[in-house]
Amino acid sequence: MLVYRFLFLLALTLLATNLARAEDTVSSPPAEKPPPATPVEPTITFSFVHVDGPYIAMTFDDGPNEKLTPRLLNLLATHHIKATFFVIGQNVVEHPEIVQRAAREGHEIGNHSWSHPNLGKMSDEGVRRELKKTEDAIKSATGARPTLLRPPYGSISGRQKKWIHDEFGYQIILWDVDPLDWKRPGPAVVCNRIIKGTRAGSIVLSHDIHPGTIEAMPSTLDQLEAKGFKFVTVSELIAKAVPETPKPHKEPPAVPATAGSPSPRSTIAPRPNG
Ligand SMILES: [Zn+2]
Repeated sequence: MLVYRFLFLLALTLLATNLARAEDTVSSPPAEKPPPATPVEPTITFSFVHVDGPYIAMTFDDGPNEKLTPRLLNLLATHHIKATFFVIGQNVVEHPEIVQRAAREGHEIGNHSWSHPNLGKMSDEGVRRELKKTEDAIKSATGARPTLLRPPYGSISGRQKKWIHDEFGYQIILWDVDPLDWKRPGPAVVCNRIIKGTRAGSIVLSHDIHPGTIEAMPSTLDQLEAKGFKFVTVSELIAKAVPETPKPHKEPPAVPATAGSPSPRSTIAPRPNG
């Protein structure tokens, strides 16, 4: 009974925090409402998070890049936006100071493997080496171990997800908005695709190793802010997850996800991005 009471109070506290921060949300639940059911099995994989409020997570892969990542960090700082960086281990050891700065400024650092291979096609031992070396590099640069993995190309099997989660404690993070910025379509296209695809709970994929992506960001962030979105790290977004219940409430305008690319829910299919 005490446990339920504690969970209920915790849920109320979280709800109150969200209400205070979100612009338009649901009205307070009646006091007799039972606490939200806790999931039986923890969710391991996320490409989108169902949230009550206009929260989104911007994610930047494949860095750090010596020139572009600091530029992006400057921009994020002026906007007071927290993002998530899925870094490549061999880039981390080349520029640990950039990763350290990102972490110090409140951004989340996730594991994106050591050398960007297709994990779905590798032996467990090979995958383990890729992840462990990168985790050690991140720990050495920032003082903290990552808790998130984004598999390169989104390629990972269900079996791999499970053992990686068991062994490393990682949540597997995919995405629901993909501007295909790695094809370098130009900053305006990158910006438009992100604006069109993003809805509350979105995890937006892009790469801080392409100049066009960095050039797209000032306008992208301005427009997302104008739509009322609030930027959080991926772990913060997951912490805001609420059960999907079909109840009417106001949200920022929901736009169909993705700019012409399929949602990466299937787990094995290799993709040219990520
Ligand atoms: Zn990548």
